[in-house]
Amino acid sequence: MASVTPVSTTSSQELFDRARALMPGGVNSPVRAFGSVGGTPRFMVSAKGPYITDSEGREYVDLVCSWGPALVGHSHPDVLAAVHAAVDNGLSFGASTPAEAELAQLVMDRIPAVKRLRMVSTGTEATMTAIRLARGFTGRNLVIKFAGCYHGHLDGLLAAAGSGLATLALPGSAGVTEATAAETLVLPYNDVAAVEAAFAEHGPNIAAVITEAAPANMGVVTPEPGFNAALSRITAEHGALLILDEVLTGFRTGPAGYWGLTGAVEGWTPDLFTFGKVIGGGMPVAALGGRADVMDYLAPVGPVYQAGTLSGNPIAMAAGVATLKAATPEVYATVDARSAELSAAVSAALDAAGVDHSIQRAGNLFSVAFGTSATGVHNYEQAQAQQAYRYKPFFHAMLEAGVYLPPSVFEAWFLSGAHDDAAMERIYAALPAAARAAAD
Ligand code: PLP
Repeated sequence: MASVTPVSTTSSQELFDRARALMPGGVNSPVRAFGSVGGTPRFMVSAKGPYITDSEGREYVDLVCSWGPALVGHSHPDVLAAVHAAVDNGLSFGASTPAEAELAQLVMDRIPAVKRLRMVSTGTEATMTAIRLARGFTGRNLVIKFAGCYHGHLDGLLAAAGSGLATLALPGSAGVTEATAAETLVLPYNDVAAVEAAFAEHGPNIAAVITEAAPANMGVVTPEPGFNAALSRITAEHGALLILDEVLTGFRTGPAGYWGLTGAVEGWTPDLFTFGKVIGGGMPVAALGGRADVMDYLAPVGPVYQAGTLSGNPIAMAAGVATLKAATPEVYATVDARSAELSAAVSAALDAAGVDHSIQRAGNLFSVAFGTSATGVHNYEQAQAQQAYRYKPFFHAMLEAGVYLPPSVFEAWFLSGAHDDAAMERIYAALPAAARAAAD
């Protein structure tokens, strides 16, 4: 395989200064600006296995993994070979290709409840289309989301957290109209009674409930046992749809995502799933899928329109197919084991430094919440009430020691099947000093 050519040796500071003059905040996605941890974002030029390298040649153990997609490790040889082979055949045809059905089949083999799949390019498109489809199918307007759950940047789901039951949301972003926000009901997470109450009041107008299969965008929050099952039951009782957002958890927490760990065992199935991240292995791929009668409401079969110039792009499909094939049982066993080891090591280091915390866990996803040991974190209110300021010194101590953590306390830590002993040792060696920094 060709060796990687350094893209730049310019410092991250110089690159950031230049980028800020050219792009809003110097970034193309806000969290990359290091806003909540401060300091200069690292500009990355290459990644291999569990490591990522910045523009000055500094190598970090990567616990972001591209925010999830790099499940099998960066630059996995099978994935790169598949992409190189696809590139040689041309970049995009704007026509159907064999690889689309191959990827769809791999998804359905893992999640039989997916009877039809539509490929899109981002998780936002997947959830946006799922919402439109749910409205088109049910003929209803309202959507329930949970405070602290992130589903992408579509207008209706940026609605801010309202307090109390069935609060009509205020826009969570400038540019979102009140009329749009008013079609989203924001409820507290893990609160079945709030969902029952919302349906009692608005039932005939509710098209769908959308929920992260396990929230990982307010830090990780475990769905209480039976919570997702209750959503499935309540939506079915009222003729609404359940959209299980597995953009982050899908194919990461197990071959069949978080649903595979819960719904498949407990006997409930959402009407629609959304996928992203791992399904494209680092290329822009996402998808929605589920019940055939609902999915067949999509154009060209049905009346709900959706389209995409680059949907099902052949390079992206090749990366997705190769990634799912490389996601063997051994990969999941490694990620599960590393997650258990690492979260225990983080907790032990924080304990030794006298830092109150809880480890938040959902399958092999975890995050740390500071000052929350008394209650843990079960909803957005508790997530926001934590001692978030402790993360900043912790993060920078780890960064200086060569460990790249998510630059926000409200994100999950991502591992891969490539995180070997050497990579883990580097993380463990960095933890005591970082924990002491968090104590100050
Ligand atoms: N849904 C969930 C659960 C996510 O975590 C994300 C992104 O992090 C999205 C949707 C949006 O995906 P994208 O960033 O590809 O638009």
